[in-house]
Amino acid sequence: MELDRALREIHREVTPHLGEGRVATYIPALARVDPRRFGMAVATIDGETHVVGEANASFSIQSISKVFTLTLALQQVGSRLWSRVGREPSGTPFNSLVQLEYERGVPRNPFINAGALVVTDVLLFCWGREEALGHILGLIREVAADGHVAVDPEVARSEKASGHRNVALANLIHSFGRFRSDVDEILDLYFHQCAIAMGCAQLARSALFLAAGGRDPGSGRRVISRRRARRINSLMLTCGHYDASGDFAFRVGLPGKSGVGGGILAVAPGRLAAAVWSPALNPQGSSLVGTLALEKLAAKTGLSVF
Ligand code: GLU
Repeated sequence: MELDRALREIHREVTPHLGEGRVATYIPALARVDPRRFGMAVATIDGETHVVGEANASFSIQSISKVFTLTLALQQVGSRLWSRVGREPSGTPFNSLVQLEYERGVPRNPFINAGALVVTDVLLFCWGREEALGHILGLIREVAADGHVAVDPEVARSEKASGHRNVALANLIHSFGRFRSDVDEILDLYFHQCAIAMGCAQLARSALFLAAGGRDPGSGRRVISRRRARRINSLMLTCGHYDASGDFAFRVGLPGKSGVGGGILAVAPGRLAAAVWSPALNPQGSSLVGTLALEKLAAKTGLSVF
């Protein structure tokens, strides 16, 4: 089906469900967002962008930032990363401490909070705080083709003030001697990367390198090797939605990454990237209507990696 028509239909079909689910309240700045908002964008590797709803409204990308920090860490240290973080779905909530204790500070995968904190430590150790944040923003601005993508300082402050579980996770990892940098600096950088804000149209554009074998189709620049792009996609498929990853693979059938700001990024290798935003979340912390919208996109277009 033609993409503009598919997006219009999806918008119409999900509208009765807007507001179902609950916005993230553990980060006070996110609790204030209207749960009924909705935007969606699809960027194709041949340069078209299709949008519906509030596709240009800026929102907090939260854990979707983990896709970009993983890309940077793999660029920097390659497969050495896998001695410090695993590649298995966790089956536990995004901020769970239990598994980390059993597995002695080696997080299951880079997309749960514990794993992302290890990835952040890698970037901090390579570059230091200012430069690492500069590289994260630099990569996102480049692949989004938008130099204005920035951190929302209010969200970063809010998360820092209320991020008790992340502080606990970081200290637990540190207690096993798994970090190289200072715990407070790791947390500060992590909160800032999660507080990056952008719209669906930019976000869809920013994942095209993962749809196009590691090369940004706009600039032609290779961001990461083809093999690593494939692997990031496979981790998004198996681990991108915490303990709802299996359900997302079942319903949507595409690699994806969600964030508690209500955004979800999905990649159809060889074809396109899609981003959706609707702030009310399902119990596992992914956008309820966003998941539904992507399920409908896959059904209407036949897109699937299977
Ligand atoms: N910044 C959030 C946290 O660490 C990210 C979680 C998410 O987006 O899933 O709690």
